[in-house]
Amino acid sequence: MAPNEIIAEQVLREIVKVNDPIFTASLLDEKNEKESESQQIEKENKEYEDLIKQPFLKRNDIKWMNLYFMVVLHAVALYGFLTFPYLEKKATFAWCWFLAVVANFGVAGGVHRLWSHRAYKAKLPLRVILMFCYLTSGQYSAMYWIRDHRVHHKFSETNADPVNSRRGFWFSHCGWLTMKRHPEVLRKGRQIDFSDCYEDPVIAFEEKYFEILRPVVGFLLPTLVPVYFWNESWYWAIISVVFMRYAYSVNCTWSINSFAHMFGSKPYDKSIAPAQNFLMSLATGGEGWHNYHHVFPWDYKTAELGNYITGVNLTSFLIDQFAKIGWAYDLKQPSKELIKSVIQNRGDGTHPEVEVKPEEKAN
Ligand SMILES: [Zn+2]
Ligand SMILES: [Zn+2]
Repeated sequence: MAPNEIIAEQVLREIVKVNDPIFTASLLDEKNEKESESQQIEKENKEYEDLIKQPFLKRNDIKWMNLYFMVVLHAVALYGFLTFPYLEKKATFAWCWFLAVVANFGVAGGVHRLWSHRAYKAKLPLRVILMFCYLTSGQYSAMYWIRDHRVHHKFSETNADPVNSRRGFWFSHCGWLTMKRHPEVLRKGRQIDFSDCYEDPVIAFEEKYFEILRPVVGFLLPTLVPVYFWNESWYWAIISVVFMRYAYSVNCTWSINSFAHMFGSKPYDKSIAPAQNFLMSLATGGEGWHNYHHVFPWDYKTAELGNYITGVNLTSFLIDQFAKIGWAYDLKQPSKELIKSVIQNRGDGTHPEVEVKPEEKAN
């Protein structure tokens, strides 16, 4: 017990002993306050649980504008994918592909591995590059992303997880963006420390000018490039960059919360939902080795096995190149012994190199 707590404990005993009505009353008030707070939390949680059982259109937790944008985005993107003249407009198609790769580096290497997990450190020029790449993704502010992601890791598969996969595939994929948050997400989110992010001037700058940066870097500049450099029509530039590329890109990011929390093997910890998913790694430059990532979130590679090609880990390749020039440093990885012992004790037996302990396998 800390010295302050010992003193408080002694004072409390004294007060009870003298039976002072004022002190006793204030103690009771405090107790009542705590009780009413926990009752309030219980009530809010109960209300939300009841709400999500109601038919979709009758619920009042739907963010209708977000839902509307999501439907329009996917409808136009689908129309684009079906009608885009791929053979005629190779440069525009390649540009969209390039944008998706750049955006993914900003998401995977920036807001995810660097800022959410501090899995490595980056010098200012690299942090600026990562933030620029992240902004091309057109997703919400970096601070929001980091906050959601840290809460997701700490409270995975609970009501406090913003993308709780126990609420179904649709919710964890993109439904969560169209609904008000569960009260637990906000409550538990307050327990997480983000002081490191507030101290980073790159994040502070992005946060301050986000309303301008998002439309300009995420949509306007990427659309202007094909129009001005190879005379693409405005029509196809907008359909491909704003709708097709954006829909593809965000769906790749969302898939980690849905597909990679539902489908795949669990060689590192069979008791958790996140799984190893090759296709998701392919789509996100190495982010789909999700069973490993949830067990060792501080590993800058988010994967144990495979090289850049077999592990489809473009993000690690890029971080390693920046490490060669000293812009990325302090790349963190768990020891081989730790990984091995975790696999032996908690794995599902699918690891190609390490076997689980026999008694664990029997369970
Ligand atoms: Zn996850
Ligand atoms: Zn993560």
